[in-house]
Amino acid sequence: MSTNELAELRNKIDEVNLQILSLLNQRAEIVQEIGTQKEKQGIIRFDPVRERQSLDLINENHNGPFETSTIQHIFKEIFKASLELQEDNHKKALLVSRKARPENTIVDVNGETFGDGSQRFIMGPCAVEGYEQVRSVAKAMKEQGLTLIRGGAFKPRTSPYDFQGLGIEGLQILREVADEFGMSVVSEILTPQDVEQALDYVDVIQIGARNMQNFELLKTVGKVKKPVLLKRGLSATIDEFINAAEYIISQGNDQIILCERGIRTYEKATRNTLDISSVPILKQETHLPVVVDVTHSTGRKDLLFPTAKAALAIGADAIMAEVHPDPAVALSDAAQQMNIPEFNDFIDKLQEFKDKLA
Ligand code: PEP
Ligand code: MN
Repeated sequence: MSTNELAELRNKIDEVNLQILSLLNQRAEIVQEIGTQKEKQGIIRFDPVRERQSLDLINENHNGPFETSTIQHIFKEIFKASLELQEDNHKKALLVSRKARPENTIVDVNGETFGDGSQRFIMGPCAVEGYEQVRSVAKAMKEQGLTLIRGGAFKPRTSPYDFQGLGIEGLQILREVADEFGMSVVSEILTPQDVEQALDYVDVIQIGARNMQNFELLKTVGKVKKPVLLKRGLSATIDEFINAAEYIISQGNDQIILCERGIRTYEKATRNTLDISSVPILKQETHLPVVVDVTHSTGRKDLLFPTAKAALAIGADAIMAEVHPDPAVALSDAAQQMNIPEFNDFIDKLQEFKDKLA
């Protein structure tokens, strides 16, 4: 074969490649159109019966030099890529995504904004144990100029025999103390039935890690006009976390704050592993503010300050941490809550760090 002939054949191959490329793109456009139709009709995208028919048609008509199994493999790859294309379209359409809303959503909690670049502190005891306990934390917070108080009235405990929280009485205590000091209440609600009553007491409804995929609860808080702080599940991927937020926004409530609180890994040095990179990922992929809970992610007092610094430096919209007037006798998370002097030191040092960042 002369060099000329070889060059000619290679040119032909290039032409065929371009034809295949053009056909693949034509096919992709049809696939996208099918995806849109299926979405309108509420039909799921993957249809194995249809895929079998397509493969049979290809097999019946295949008589070239390739093995049938090779042809099947190539077409199955094309089918797979097409399905991914439809899923990408679906992803683009998520209401929590930056693609759907390029600008930040600002969550406004009685004038304390999240998502506008300010960096806030949500502090308070793990659980509400009594009026005096909450009041002494609130007083210390107020002296530091902080107004977002947290505290669990309904506690999701690993053991059913552990302190389960004071329930509505706990919410009443939080409200009373918050009103006295002009503060806002962040508190966890465990069931859809409790949401309505809680609206009278809380300013932000917290959905705990153990409930991140409690879809009925997510749908219920999606229907109310109250900010929601959604915590990442113990073993949830970022994609699952984003979809949990989508459950809320899909019902109409866009006042959602995402909270990275560490995930379960094989590492035992910390209670959970703080996935710090989830902060910029969540902020890139969604338009929602992101909070870092340094208490539950580390479970270690000595790591609260360094992880909080990391969170502020990486762009978190707020830091959450637990404070108790006497942690040694706390009914939950005794080992990891700060006492009041530790809290003051923590805030002073972080305010200083914030000023340096600015
Ligand atoms: C809490 O913040 O009170 C709590 C129980 O945390 P998590 O749901 O992240 O475990
Ligand atoms: Mn706790």
